[in-house]
Amino acid sequence: MKVFQTSHSLVEYLSDEIRPFGMVPTMGTLHPGHLSLIERAVKENQTVLISIFINPTQFDNKMDLNSYPINIDEDLRIIKKISKNVLVYVPKVDDIYGRKVESKSFELGGLDEVMEGEKRPGHFQGVVTVIAHFLKTFYPDNAYFGEKDFQQLLIIDHITRSMKIKTRIIGCPIIRESNGLAMSSRNSLLNSNERKLASKLFETLQFAKSNAKKMTYRTLKNMVGGFFENHNELTLDYFRIADPKTLKEIHLERPVDQGHGFIAAYLGKIRLIDNLDMS
Ligand code: AMP
Repeated sequence: MKVFQTSHSLVEYLSDEIRPFGMVPTMGTLHPGHLSLIERAVKENQTVLISIFINPTQFDNKMDLNSYPINIDEDLRIIKKISKNVLVYVPKVDDIYGRKVESKSFELGGLDEVMEGEKRPGHFQGVVTVIAHFLKTFYPDNAYFGEKDFQQLLIIDHITRSMKIKTRIIGCPIIRESNGLAMSSRNSLLNSNERKLASKLFETLQFAKSNAKKMTYRTLKNMVGGFFENHNELTLDYFRIADPKTLKEIHLERPVDQGHGFIAAYLGKIRLIDNLDMS
């Protein structure tokens, strides 16, 4: 395992001999969700680059940024156990942004106008600023992203095509706790009772999936809203069933026979998201 703190030293190290070369961007505090991406990348590439970078411009809220967990030493220990043939990039903010810590502006095909993009203004411009920078600086053959952040995966796929970047964007399935809770670095901020409550997001998606064909989307949506009204600790931010390619919401008056379910909720100050294929 080799650890780099600057893109300059990393670019100097990279050569064609290490190809195929896969990249797994992360914000650290690694859990089995991240590991599934890393393990797949290790299987499919000769060399794997893992970045650990908490990107300030993708946080629309300073408090969320300041409370985001950091565990670099433990992350490096975990990575070392997976493979010795791994490069880790742990940059400081100025290595990526220089002095101006600002997002660039990208055309995201309207995919950023709903759900996470609508609720967290500027979030996806921040994400894409860093991911496009990585792809255009290191030129990985393959880059791995989790379906946990389904909208992010779609937006990164869109931008890679529109910028004619050759990297193949590979989506990987959501890894869950035994109670269904989608694994997330933010879960480390939850106690065991909160983890139980947090699994309601997946339960809701499963309920939606098993009832989707029996009622209209409007009725289903109202039922989900009702669920959350009965749970004081959990506040629903949105529940939506949408086309998995365009993210356009499906028709309210029809039963749900296709589409992808998305949910976001607050547990105290912690925001959780999840999604599930409804078909
Ligand atoms: P993050 O560190 O949260 O930015 O996540 C880094 C990558 O890991 C992103 O592509 C996420 O979608 C992915 N990821 C996070 N949690 C999971 C999970 N539970 N299952 C699969 N992929 C995940």
